[in-house]
Amino acid sequence: MTDGRALAREFLEQQRQLGGDLVILPDGATSGAALTPGASPGKTEGRSAQTDPDLPPSGLSYDPPGGDLFSNDPVPQAVSLEAIAQLVASCTKCRLCEGRRHTVPGEGAAEARLVVVGEGPGRVEDETGRPFVGRAGELLTKILGAIELPRERVFICNVVKCRPPENRLPQFDEIAACVPYLFRQIDIVKPKVILAMGGTAAQTLLNTKQSLGALRNLVHRFRGIPLIVTYHPAALLRNPNWKKPTWDDVRIARRLIG
Ligand code: URA
Ligand code: SF4
Repeated sequence: MTDGRALAREFLEQQRQLGGDLVILPDGATSGAALTPGASPGKTEGRSAQTDPDLPPSGLSYDPPGGDLFSNDPVPQAVSLEAIAQLVASCTKCRLCEGRRHTVPGEGAAEARLVVVGEGPGRVEDETGRPFVGRAGELLTKILGAIELPRERVFICNVVKCRPPENRLPQFDEIAACVPYLFRQIDIVKPKVILAMGGTAAQTLLNTKQSLGALRNLVHRFRGIPLIVTYHPAALLRNPNWKKPTWDDVRIARRLIG
């Protein structure tokens, strides 16, 4: 179980980093920011204004339980990204294992300050075992370069680790089966910011059915980590009008990384 006070302190410290005011906790420890209603850990819908006028207001906060140390489920106990990748490589927890050529666990730096989450592998990703290497991936690489975050310094992965047939949307049960890998990857990397690209990533990481449009332009939190929602690069290829808002979103993510 997590100590509520520790969670509160972590939250306040993050608020301080986002530009909040100093708060004195009752036991004398200091941390950042005024406690804003609705911004407590767990799933909330506080929409409080951030104190930095250049940052959007707070959005949702999702804090899924971690693994049970006493269970024999190896996923929450994996200690490295390589260990996760190995578990994924032999995974048959959902039907997507049937059509895959390669699993695509994700790649990048274990000490990355940014984790980018997409939907699921496409054709080229399935052929190579690497995330975001097709056309959408090229665009993602450019977007990351523009905020001076070369691809190698970011951890890039997807909600599901095997390609859905014909690139259809991953189904709810497939996402449910696969998401423990993603959650553990985020736990291991401990990024400063998460960038959720597209509705599937955003809705999965925030445990909501709200539309991408409603989720954009807010600073959400996943287990306390600031999370920004933006368009999926494949959608940008189809609709160039979304490029400008995407730049705005990634600039916000960049600002939060510091
Ligand atoms: N689209 C995704 O969501 N992920 C990839 O890895 C490639 C395309
Ligand atoms: Fe396992 Fe995820 Fe692949 Fe399904 S998509 S088989 S849960 S790794």
